[in-house]
Amino acid sequence: MSFMTLSSGKSLWRGYEYYKNNRVCYKSIKSDTEIEGKVVGNGKTYTVVIDTEHPRKSKCNCPHADGKHIICKHMVALYFATFPKVAEAYYNEVIAYEEEQERIQSEMEEKVIDYINSLKKDELRQKLFEVLFDGPEWMFNRFYRENIEW
Ligand SMILES: [Zn+2]
Repeated sequence: MSFMTLSSGKSLWRGYEYYKNNRVCYKSIKSDTEIEGKVVGNGKTYTVVIDTEHPRKSKCNCPHADGKHIICKHMVALYFATFPKVAEAYYNEVIAYEEEQERIQSEMEEKVIDYINSLKKDELRQKLFEVLFDGPEWMFNRFYRENIEW
């Protein structure tokens, strides 16, 4: 398994932010597969060693990762600082994914608006009734407060 696929989505993103905010204050290539570094956390500087061949052997002395075989944001930050092209590819992938999600969302909104506009008055009444009485309770309560109880 590669370094990035073993990291959680949250660690990847936070690690990317750390890398971008220059929190990797020291970096040294120890061997073909090992990189040592220092990463500034919240008020503390952590010592990080990443192993690109065996990612689970990577170490960081932060409370989250110390003594455990997990990939933390400090390791990710050091990884991205060592491989900036991988960092940029990761960032572009995140942006492309978000843009795709936004595109899908606005496409769905447009379809719903078209659908609502196509309905006749009695169909609209029936649909509103169904949405309010079959939908979640908060929706009913909000509708009641905003339109009836005022
Ligand atoms: Zn850490």
